[in-house]
Amino acid sequence: MSIADNLAGIYERMAGAARRVRRSPESVTLVAVSKRVPVEKIAEAMAAGQKLFGENYLQEAQEKISRLPPEASWHCIGHLQSNKAKQAVELFQMVETVDNLKLARLLDRQAALAGRVLPVLVQVNVGREPQKAGVFPEAAEKLLREIKECPYLQVRGLMTMPPFFDQPEAARPFFRELRLLAEALTGKGLLGEHGPVELSMGMSGDFEVAIEEGATLVRVGTALFGERL
Ligand SMILES: *Cc1c(COP(=O)(O)O)cnc(C)c1O
Repeated sequence: MSIADNLAGIYERMAGAARRVRRSPESVTLVAVSKRVPVEKIAEAMAAGQKLFGENYLQEAQEKISRLPPEASWHCIGHLQSNKAKQAVELFQMVETVDNLKLARLLDRQAALAGRVLPVLVQVNVGREPQKAGVFPEAAEKLLREIKECPYLQVRGLMTMPPFFDQPEAARPFFRELRLLAEALTGKGLLGEHGPVELSMGMSGDFEVAIEEGATLVRVGTALFGERL
């Protein structure tokens, strides 16, 4: 299967999942996860119409972005070290992985220096896994209130990576929890000021379940590009 075929298949499955819960297929956006994928394959996905990509590692992203056409846009979906805030602001249209105030403040400062507003998501560790990044759900409210003081950041929504399961259905309660948390925070006026609230959740194995639970961004790598090296 070519990347173009994979892409078409993923869009079809995304639309099917949206329709099952009476959502419009246009309400879900694919972030093509291109970590450890060579630029030639990313270019192939671009030729097939995909323009939004997700990268985990700053140095890798920097090298690829410089070699690909400017029509591509990029989300940071990996853990971001504080000393990389400047480059992150230069490279990414959105940082999906803000989970502490120190990082938020550094991104805010660099965005101010760059003269731009940076859209971000707050990463939530819904599975409370010690090895995973993200704030615990009960700490999201405090962080959102603190980030409100950062004039150059716009929090657009929440992102999560639930525990890994072989069965996609097993991830459903975690996706649902992120949606309910976002709804509660929206009710408190902490989300939704900058347009529709984004929920970034769902990967190759479970993006359809995530869409059924309200995902607006799905991050899919393997199903599009094949197994990573
Ligand atoms: C690698 C990665 C993905 C994509 O995973 P696949 O299973 O290859 O689709 C999504 N989100 C994050 C944060 C990742 O690191």
